[in-house]
Amino acid sequence: MSDEFRVEEVIRAEVRALTAYHVDPAAYPVKLDANESPFAPSPALEAAIVEAFRGLPIHRYPDPEAHELRKVLARRFGVPAGQLLLGNGSDELIQMLLMAVAGPGVAVMAPVPTFSMYELGARALGLRFVGVPLDARFALDAAAWRAALERERPRAVFLSSPNNPTGNCLGDAAILDTLDRCRGLVVVDEAYFDYSARTLLPELPRRPNLVVLRTLSKIGMAGLRLGILAAGPAIVDELNKVRLPYNINMLSQTVARVALEHDAEVRAHVQAVRRERDALQRGLRAFPEVEVFPSEANFLLLRTPFPDGAIHEAVARQGVSVRRFAGDPALARCLRVTVGLPEENTRFLDALKRALDDVRAAGVRA
Ligand code: PMP
Repeated sequence: MSDEFRVEEVIRAEVRALTAYHVDPAAYPVKLDANESPFAPSPALEAAIVEAFRGLPIHRYPDPEAHELRKVLARRFGVPAGQLLLGNGSDELIQMLLMAVAGPGVAVMAPVPTFSMYELGARALGLRFVGVPLDARFALDAAAWRAALERERPRAVFLSSPNNPTGNCLGDAAILDTLDRCRGLVVVDEAYFDYSARTLLPELPRRPNLVVLRTLSKIGMAGLRLGILAAGPAIVDELNKVRLPYNINMLSQTVARVALEHDAEVRAHVQAVRRERDALQRGLRAFPEVEVFPSEANFLLLRTPFPDGAIHEAVARQGVSVRRFAGDPALARCLRVTVGLPEENTRFLDALKRALDDVRAAGVRA
């Protein structure tokens, strides 16, 4: 064989054109970059988890349907267990949805800026991703959105509400209008539901094209990788065909079940984050040159007068990791900060103050 192996002859052009989802590998003392909960499990919950691990038959495959866990989630959501599908994070559910609708020339649509996995997942499968710009306040531009629905006839639209990274909800009226107009799946990604308390779930029985996504990642269980999809039985049946049989491992099924039994703890942590969000917002509003966008999630988006790269780096140098969005003009000079523990938020505010002073002193202008 004289021919050399060439990766570009084997890997599809769509895949080669992508940039992998980036996670900063550095360990920062204050980690406010991934919208996780800042609260570790209590000693009581930890003890319950350890107890549940006793005698766990890990030499066997896990329950492929996660029956017990789905029962707990069905009660929690008020949705029949048969209408719930679990994913290894809602990331995997997004991928399943995209796999199920993929085909030549098929369009998938979302308002942008939004959660990057919709576009990344779509493009990896050769789908056409159509991003419709949100307006200057990050609200849905109703006329542009409706025109795009009409023009593109997407097989799936993704509405992150609250929207990551902007923090605002897209509005029930706009979502219901989309459900009326769209012949494809309307995926309402409620990853931050616990912080907004706004949901389309009650619409499920009368909306055959509605899909609601939830996750345990934002309420203290990011390490488990557990996403939840709720939809009509017809959609769930089809999606089950593209789901890998044992996609939720035994440890995650067990811990999620135990943690959800400690619901008072989950709720208390959510409430604490909501209170801290308001405190952090007030802290940020004290900076006259910083614009803070309203948020119904567990993070805040802010805009400074300076290049986001410079501020991000100056904040990171002080041991605080936040998120920036390099290369997205709609998010120029913006940073996203996850709500942390009170002392973490204080450290962030101090770091931001020093970063703004340093960058200003260095004569950097946006
Ligand atoms: N949807 C949105 C809107 C998100 O912000 C995230 C996490 N960043 C996810 C889905 C994925 O969450 P997970 O895979 O952890 O469930």
